This record gives sequence, structure tokens and C-alpha cells, in this order.
Amino acid sequence: MRRVLILGGTAEARALAAELAVRGVHVVSSLAGRVSNPRLPVGEVREGGFGGPDGLAAWLAAERIDTVVDATHPFAARMTASAAQASARTGVPLLVLRRPGWREGPGDAWQRVASLYEAAAWLPSPARVFLTTGRRSLPVFTGLPGVWLLARSVDPPEPPVPDDVHVLLDRGPYTVEGERSLIREHRLDVLVTKDSGGRMTTAKLVAARELGLLVIMVDRPPLPTGVRRVETVEEAAAWAQG
Ligand code: NAP
Repeated sequence: MRRVLILGGTAEARALAAELAVRGVHVVSSLAGRVSNPRLPVGEVREGGFGGPDGLAAWLAAERIDTVVDATHPFAARMTASAAQASARTGVPLLVLRRPGWREGPGDAWQRVASLYEAAAWLPSPARVFLTTGRRSLPVFTGLPGVWLLARSVDPPEPPVPDDVHVLLDRGPYTVEGERSLIREHRLDVLVTKDSGGRMTTAKLVAARELGLLVIMVDRPPLPTGVRRVETVEEAAAWAQG
């Protein structure tokens, strides 16, 4: 039986695991193990880092993995780099499944930036900021003069949380109506987000457009050179099935 490793932590990774199971492929899904109570895919699941490219290469050999699909989040750049290196070393083929990024449309006011630090530098002052870049990015945005933050994340950020930060724990999915009332309730005027792409979190972009917020959009890190990429679960399933 064909054995496929899916590097997961996304909705696409769960959909791919389900699709490959239907096609009779043995799937092992891997999660970083950082989110408490994660949504689990069907089939075998392992959790925790592999120990860099060497650890992953050894794991692929020990588990007799035929192919790897990296379906991690577009910002999980270390895992993707590690997968590319382990694939090159072992000869186990790698495919990256990456949903398309978001595009600015009519009525949007976006500022694209290359990093979280650049996003922080672009913040006006005073500003009431809707921050959706993840709990680990919070220190980049705290302590800026005149900046108040509504920081939404799945798990709580590391304490201490400064006074000018209001933490909202939520994992979605979100509705435009819900995002609109959040923006109004907290009188937010700037949205900071990573260009994650996908449909799960677009409601905030629609609400931001409607209510005239400035959107600071952090661009994705580039893929390692030479890595093959597809955008849909169907393409990845066809490739992984062999
Ligand atoms: P990262 O910075 O690229 O990864 C850091 C380290 O965590 C990796 O070097 C690897 O450790 C381990 N790791 C990451 N993903 C793993 C996986 N699927 N299975 C096993 N080990 C994994 O990644 P991250 O940004 O912390 O994201 C961690 C996980 O959360 C990913 O699975 C990603 O899909 C998911 N996620 C991330 C974001 C985001 O905004 N970054 C958003 C939603 C979901 P070793 O080097 O020891 O192997």
C-alpha cells in the first residue's frame, strides 16, 4: 500500500487526508502539536517536530514513506524548507499544496508589506488595530505609541499581555456580519493580516472593505526554489495517489 506523509495543520491538509483515504492510500498526517485540541484529520496522526531536515529524512526512511505533500500553512516557512531539504536528500518526492493568496479588489485599501516588522512600521498613530497574525506575533506590535490592539488568536498569547491589548480567543469560521460588529464594537480602523488565502478567513477582508479600514497585508514567504506546487486538493490527491 502506498504511504503518504501529509504535513498538515490546515483545512486543505484534512481534506487531502480524507480524499486519499477514500482512494485507498495509507496516509500519515503530521501536526506541529502547538495548538491545544487541534482539528484532527481522518487516519493516522503524529504530532511534534521531526528535528529539522535530518530528523525528517530519517523519519521518512524509517516509516517507508513514498511521497510527501506539504500542506502546511503558507507562513510555515521553516517546515516547508525542511521538507524540501529532506526530499532532496532522500529522493522521496515532495509536492507543496498551497492555496492561492488573496487579491485586492475594488473598494479595498491594502498596503502590502514583506514582514510583520514592516507591518508594525506602517501602523498610523493613533490607531485601533485588528490584529490577526497569530499570538506569537503579538510582541512585534505591542508598546507602539497611540496603538491599541484587538488581537485575535486560537490559543492565548504568552503572558504578560500589556494593557493596550485586548485578546479575543476564537478559531473561526467567521461571518461578515460577525466581523462587521466586532469592528464597530471596538471602533477598529486598521486590520493587520497575513496573506493566508482561502475562504475560511475572508470575512474580515469583506467587512474591512465595507467599513473603510486600512488593511496591512503581510506577504507570504517565498517557496524554496525548484519545489513543485499545486493549488487544489484534487491536484494534490491525484499526484499523491501516483
Ligand atoms: P514553522 O515555523 O514553519 O515550523 C517550525 C517548526 O515546527 C518546524 O521546523 C517543525 O519542527 C515544526 N513543524 C511545523 N509544522 C509541522 C508539522 N505539520 N508537522 C510536524 N512538525 C511541524 O511552522 P509554524 O508557522 O510554527 O506552523 C506550525 C503549524 O501550524 C504548521 O503545521 C502549520 O500548517 C500550522 N499553521 C500555521 C499558521 C501560521 O500562520 N504560521 C497558521 C495556521 C496553521 P522540526 O524542525 O523539529 O521538524
